[in-house]
Amino acid sequence: MSSMDKMKDAVVGSNWASALPRKSYEKLERIETTNEWFEVYQLPKDVYAIYEPGHFQEVISYLIIGEKKAILLDTGMGIGNIYELVHSLTDKEIEVVNSHSHFDHIGENYKFSKISIFEDSNAINTLTKGYTVEELKEHATNLMFAKVPPKDFLAETYMMPPCEFDLLHDGDIVDLGNRKLKVIHTPGHSSDSIMLHDEENRILFTGDTFYPGALYAHFDEPFYGKSNLEIYLNSLRNIANDVVPHIDYLYCSHNEPVNEPRLVEEAMKALQAILDQKASYQVDESGLRRYDFDGFAVITKD
Ligand SMILES: [Zn+2]
Repeated sequence: MSSMDKMKDAVVGSNWASALPRKSYEKLERIETTNEWFEVYQLPKDVYAIYEPGHFQEVISYLIIGEKKAILLDTGMGIGNIYELVHSLTDKEIEVVNSHSHFDHIGENYKFSKISIFEDSNAINTLTKGYTVEELKEHATNLMFAKVPPKDFLAETYMMPPCEFDLLHDGDIVDLGNRKLKVIHTPGHSSDSIMLHDEENRILFTGDTFYPGALYAHFDEPFYGKSNLEIYLNSLRNIANDVVPHIDYLYCSHNEPVNEPRLVEEAMKALQAILDQKASYQVDESGLRRYDFDGFAVITKD
């Protein structure tokens, strides 16, 4: 069912930045800061979305404010200065939780004193060693940038130092005082992926397991670890059954922050169709398949 024309690159389209600025941000309340790299948006229920539209990943980190402390869900690309930024947004003590260990989510981990990540060998290895210049250099080429990075950012020295961390488990509760986040292990995109469920506020922080864009289910190498489509489908099915009926918003980690919960079910159906070989796709030059659906896509190996 593949198209006859090979796509050049299923992941990075040649004109990816033409989607920017994304229209949905017009409806959100933007907070002005002095930081030129990040865009900050105030979302319902005392959450800030911290967006990096200047890099292809368009990653979004979240600052979640509780009565006693705040949680920073991911530390972004390590290109801007998220440490300084989040401390300008709250006076509360800030602890980091990582949605998983991919480079675009742990960039400034090393600056924080308390970091937690899911108990998983890949996550432990990655945070223990960090990312080297060599590993990150393809992510710091000009093609990856939609705007000029800050002056003190140098592509030639771009790396992520190791950090110390604590381990999270499925079902753990992260208590911010008057606000509790439940850890849900959702492997598939990576073995260490989690979501955070804020039951009281009816929000699900989805990490990279769902967002409105190309979902990566093709990884199989030391840098990214291993994706698994059957396991991914199972994670989405569990979330669709157990969590989606109890939430009003998905807060996602790439492209656009606020999304409708029903999309989890759509993604579940999409993965099922791929596994049943009932979905059409295009293949790129490196042997990746891209399946396009309404509002998102899925990348797998050919
Ligand atoms: Zn990821």
